[in-house]
Amino acid sequence: MSTRWVFTVSEMISFATETRAQAKSLALVPTMGALHEGHLSLVRQAKIQCEVVVVSIFVNPMQFGPMEDFARYPRDPEKDFALLQSSKVQAVFAPSVAEVFPAGFSTSVDPGPIATVLEGAQRPGHFRGVATVLLRLFNIVRPDVALFGQKDFQQVVIIRHLVEDLNLPVRIVVCPIVREADGLAMSSRNAYLNARDRRAAALLSRSLKRAEEMAQAGETDTPKLLGEMHRVFDAEPSLQLDYAAIVDPAKLEPVAQVVPGSVALVAARLGTTRLIDNLIFGPPGSTPEMKLQLALTTRAPDKERGADARPEIDRLRVKIENCRDCAAVSSISLPPRDFLVKYLQRDYPDLGSTRVLVIGGCAPMHSAASPYSHPEASNLFVTRLYDLLGVRDFTEFKAHCALTDAARCHATGNRLDDRTLEYCAKHLREELKLFPNLQSIVILGEYAYLQFQRHILSRERPSIMRFGELLKSEGWAKETVRLPWQGERDVRIFYCYHPTFESRKSPSLAAFLGLKP
Ligand code: AMP
Repeated sequence: MSTRWVFTVSEMISFATETRAQAKSLALVPTMGALHEGHLSLVRQAKIQCEVVVVSIFVNPMQFGPMEDFARYPRDPEKDFALLQSSKVQAVFAPSVAEVFPAGFSTSVDPGPIATVLEGAQRPGHFRGVATVLLRLFNIVRPDVALFGQKDFQQVVIIRHLVEDLNLPVRIVVCPIVREADGLAMSSRNAYLNARDRRAAALLSRSLKRAEEMAQAGETDTPKLLGEMHRVFDAEPSLQLDYAAIVDPAKLEPVAQVVPGSVALVAARLGTTRLIDNLIFGPPGSTPEMKLQLALTTRAPDKERGADARPEIDRLRVKIENCRDCAAVSSISLPPRDFLVKYLQRDYPDLGSTRVLVIGGCAPMHSAASPYSHPEASNLFVTRLYDLLGVRDFTEFKAHCALTDAARCHATGNRLDDRTLEYCAKHLREELKLFPNLQSIVILGEYAYLQFQRHILSRERPSIMRFGELLKSEGWAKETVRLPWQGERDVRIFYCYHPTFESRKSPSLAAFLGLKP
């Protein structure tokens, strides 16, 4: 499909309705245009997450103050379109102001106190404009996923609140900051800078980097970190600091001590150009994605709790979060969806393209035995699994299927009881929702079967056959079901013996799954 312009709201609604009718997942990347690599990183992530990507380009007058740069904000629609065409985006939604805010438009969304600090204090009404236009865009496009940059950290916090508070049916994905070689965060407004200001602008990221270095060397005292940041800025008199702050990532309230997930934010003016930047503190060696995850899963600080308990808890949380086997334990304290997306995407960057999900209790997912850790080394589970599915090797397996160990959830005994299966099913349900285009599910073994029948299909005992009886003659069985979140689509379910189940083996499902090359 080639890239197309969409200029009107009604045309956009038709495009989105058509996409949904084809059961395709849809991602929205809202921008104000003058696109750069930062925007394109969101587009790339959107392509991974969904089949259809819409990028909106709209310089929103409602989020600019009367003395701000709305009129002169850089606009280059033809260049933007060419970039989006190369990125294979399906639609570029570029409505006029009159389309988005027709005469008589009078509603606005007030995001509350969180929109009155930091950027909100400097730019009164800014986030009201942002929230209002986004709610309108979400309702027009009705995307499954919307993508935003960490570059506008406060905006991300406000949008996540908006989605949660108003129960908007969209998943928010946040991408790390893309920077120039000297550290300056990419921004459409960098185009305003002359050569001298451009050099001075690098101090924003340098001050943040300095604070990070100190924190990683063990300095957690916020006044000391802020003092050092101010020293960096003082070296450049043309840079006028609006604010430098270190806050908790949930409420954006100043913190006395930095912990993993705390955020440093800066805003400064160079002449008439205003720039912002931020940094999430994390353990040494943590990736930008891990830091984002830390910040976005941190709860609001608990005033009652002793301050000294936090580093311990945070360290434990990081440890758990980085361990795939701890999915169930971890998602008690972390939002399960965010967590599951994160670990699944390590192995399957494009969840939307997975057609066959293989569910098996006891699948060897822990690092040493995982088929993904040592694809070349065969073990009983892997050989039998590939045989059952009719794939030749690890590469072929990953191209067609995803594997999850739904019944594990840290159960260590030989027999899994009902409560364990019920508990793990919560996470399995969340996990299933992450695959928008599933056509088939292969269920390996009795525990996964029971878990699926009772807790995913909500069947009661009398209608659940004994596993051996169900598979008696052929060694496998098949049925077609509708999963509530998959809409009107049928999903084929195949039940068979677990590949390691003693000597009982199910015949190949390859022909039915259509995986044979
Ligand atoms: P804007 O066009 O400035 O409204 O930005 C559109 C989206 O791109 C927002 O979600 C921004 O946070 C994101 N964005 C802007 N600059 C960057 C960057 N340097 N790295 C990552 N995302 C960015």
